[in-house]
Amino acid sequence: MADHPHVVVVGGGFGGLNAARALAGRPVRVTLLDRRNHHLFQPLLYQVATAALNASDIAAPLRSVLRRAQNVTVLLAEVQRVDLAARRLMLDRGEIGYDALILAAGAGHSYFGHEDWEAFAPSLKTLEDALEIRRRVLLAYEAAEREADGAEQQALLTFVVVGGGPTGVELAGALAEISRQTIARDFRVIDPTRARIVLVEGGARVLAAFPESLSERARRSLERIGVEVRTGAIVTRVTADAVWLGSEQIRARTVLWAAGVAASPLARTLGVPLDRAGRVPVEADLSIPGHPEVFVIGDMSVFRDPSGAPLPGLAPVAIQQGRRAADNVLRRLSGQPTLAFRYRDRGTMATIGRAAAVAVVGGIQLSGLIAWLAWLFVHILFLIGFRNRLLVVFEWAWAYASWQRGARLITRPWRSRNSS
Ligand SMILES: Cc1cc2nc3c(=O)[nH]c(=O)nc-3n(C[C@H](O)[C@H](O)[C@H](O)COP(=O)(O)OP(=O)(O)OC[C@H]3O[C@@H](n4cnc5c(N)ncnc54)[C@H](O)[C@@H]3O)c2cc1C
Repeated sequence: MADHPHVVVVGGGFGGLNAARALAGRPVRVTLLDRRNHHLFQPLLYQVATAALNASDIAAPLRSVLRRAQNVTVLLAEVQRVDLAARRLMLDRGEIGYDALILAAGAGHSYFGHEDWEAFAPSLKTLEDALEIRRRVLLAYEAAEREADGAEQQALLTFVVVGGGPTGVELAGALAEISRQTIARDFRVIDPTRARIVLVEGGARVLAAFPESLSERARRSLERIGVEVRTGAIVTRVTADAVWLGSEQIRARTVLWAAGVAASPLARTLGVPLDRAGRVPVEADLSIPGHPEVFVIGDMSVFRDPSGAPLPGLAPVAIQQGRRAADNVLRRLSGQPTLAFRYRDRGTMATIGRAAAVAVVGGIQLSGLIAWLAWLFVHILFLIGFRNRLLVVFEWAWAYASWQRGARLITRPWRSRNSS
């Protein structure tokens, strides 16, 4: 096997993991590099952030997922730079060479040039982020219970979510559900059901990627469960205890960021032109211009469909691209022509609190409970590789049926006020 070509895959997310799996058992040596030792099922992160699931329910160790793939080596390493000319990657410790490279390092959130806001308004991307958000939300209620000052108490009971895409809508819905149901009767001084949950969106409507009628339904569902939806509202400043929308100040001790996308900074080290979100534009076969041995996939890249529209940053896009990139690597190494990538869109969906959702599946628009059931089914189906899949479903169903989040409402202690 030592004389087989060496394929390096960067990132064990949806794109990279599927590429590595597609290369398993094939005549190549594969090294999968990730700075974390687990694959993370990001679509269920907000369930961890809002205490409906445990962290371990949505993360699977990369080594165990790839245990049987004898030609795949997993290494815990952070890639710092790509040297395209030398076909080498610079790691946090050492270097590694490749014959073919698949880059799938994903993306994070963009603060639109206001990186200082991140300390006050964390975003949701990793397990650590989810646990930090959970800590802030739960401790805000605890602090409010002990707060004598009325204005400060109201700021502690105000939660602002910035960004009305699927993540923002899901977070706001789940926050409303926690206040109105889960902990509604657990406090003696404060009334959690009076917590203010504000969803701020700069555009004209929430869920802008969905048809207008579904956006409107999502808005109504959010308002029904107690979320104040502010569209056409641009955040101009965020501090430790407030958010400004132009001249309007909303005092809030908990602000969560779900707006804007910025590709992995690794993209910048390639020295190729990037789009405004820092993503790498790729050729039809997912390779980069001038380097047919390098493929960039998933959230780190931008692929335009035949109409010229960029594909959305979704798990199914990354999964399908991972498989196509792996196939194209094998084709290239065996002297065959590579194939163009074609995205098979099986639909998009977003949940709104407990048992409501909107979805477009095969051109059909769904909303309410039926959309939520479709959402649940698809997400369970996608949890492939997670041996505890049934357990997760059971835990989740129980949490929903009983309105309980039980032990997951336990969190670490309050740090200093300024650390929030
Ligand atoms: C909160 C949230 C909710 C979402 N909900 C949905 C949803 O409901 N449906 C849907 O389809 N999509 C959803 N998405 C989007 C979806 O998760 C992404 O489109 C998908 O994860 C992209 O896959 P990827 O492989 O490109 O990147 P990722 O899955 O992000 O994987 C990137 C991997 O690269 C690793 N990495 C990054 N930089 C380095 C480095 N320098 N060195 C080594 N390793 C590195 C990371 O640790 C990570 O494991 C959601 C995303 C978020 C954040």
